[in-house]
Amino acid sequence: ETLIDQIAAGEVVERPASVVKELVENSLDAGARRIEIVTAGGGKSLLRITDDGHGIPEAELPLAVRRHCTSKLAGGLDAIASLGFRGEALPSIGSVARLSLRSRAAGADGAHEILVQGGRTEGPRPAALGQGTVIEVRDLFHAVPARLKFLKSDRAESSAITEVVRRIAVAFPGVRFELAGEDRSPTILEAVAPGREIDRVAQVLGADFTDNSFALDAAREGVRLTGHAGLPTFHRGNALHQFAYVNGRPVRDKMILSAIRGAYADAMARDRHPVCVLFLDLDPRDVDVNVHPAKADVRFRDPGLVRGLVVGSIRAAMANLAL
Ligand code: ADP
Ligand code: MG
Repeated sequence: ETLIDQIAAGEVVERPASVVKELVENSLDAGARRIEIVTAGGGKSLLRITDDGHGIPEAELPLAVRRHCTSKLAGGLDAIASLGFRGEALPSIGSVARLSLRSRAAGADGAHEILVQGGRTEGPRPAALGQGTVIEVRDLFHAVPARLKFLKSDRAESSAITEVVRRIAVAFPGVRFELAGEDRSPTILEAVAPGREIDRVAQVLGADFTDNSFALDAAREGVRLTGHAGLPTFHRGNALHQFAYVNGRPVRDKMILSAIRGAYADAMARDRHPVCVLFLDLDPRDVDVNVHPAKADVRFRDPGLVRGLVVGSIRAAMANLAL
C-alpha cells in the first residue's frame, strides 16, 4: 500500500507547489471563502493550509487519507464539477511527508485530528478548532531522498508556490487568499465583489495590466472565451504571464500557449512576452482535463476550434489596443 502510494505520489506530488495546488483545490471544493497558506523552507519543511470550508466529519477523517476514497465522483467522470476527483492527493502526500488533518465539520460539536506518517495513521482524536480545516504537511519527501534532490532552492520552490496561488486566485475572485511564512513577504488577496472580477486580475497582475488590456468575449460552436489580453510587456525570465483556465480550472496547456504565441507573433518585440488571462468554457464532454494527475494538460475534442477562437480573439484585441 505504501509503495503504491509513493508511486502515486510521484504523479500527484512533484514539488511543494503541487501539494499547495491539491490542498487549495480541496479547500475550494469545500466551499471555503478564506484560505490561508503558510510556508517554511520553500514549502519543504512546512506547508499549512487553513480554510473555513465545510470541514470533514470525524468518521470521514480516516477515509480522507485512504487511496481512492473520494467523495466527489457521484456524477461520474463526465460530470466532474469539483476540482478534485481522484481521491489521491491526501494519501499520496501522507506517504511522502508528515501529514496532519485537523477539521471541524459544519454543525459538529468539536474538531478532530488525524496524523499520517510513512503510511501509518494515528487518530482521529479530539482537537481544538473553529469550523473548517487545517492541513499541515511537514518534511515533504523526507522519506524519498531521491525526489528531495530534484527540488530547487527554497527560494525557487517558494516562488513556484506563489505562482500556483496567483493562478488559482484569478479563477476564484470571491475567495480571500493569504500567503505567508518566514520564507516570504506576505501576500493578501482580498475577496472582490461579484461583478468586480477585474479587481482580482488587478490584484494579481497589477493595475498596469488591467488598465492597458482589452476584454475578450467571443464564442464559437459552444466554446466561449472571456478574459483580458494586454500589450506584450517586457519581462525578464520566461513567459509566466499567460493565465489560462478551462471550465474554471487553471491549465498550462501546450496548445493554448502556442495559440497565444501565434496570436501575439506580429505584435511581439524582442524580450517581450504576451500577458493575458483566458477563460475557456465549454461542455465538459468536449474536453478531457484528466490527462495527468497534476491536471495541467487538457485534451480538447476539437483543438482546432479552440485554437482558432484564441488566436482570432487576441488578434482582434491587439488591433484595438494598437489604435
Ligand atoms: P479528492 O479531492 O480527489 O476527492 P483528496 O485526496 O484530495 O481527494 O481528498 C480526499 C477527501 O478528503 C475529499 O474527497 C474530501 O472529502 C476531503 N477533504 C480534503 N480536504 C478537505 C478540506 N479542506 N475540506 C473539506 N474536506 C476535505
Ligand atoms: Mg483533492
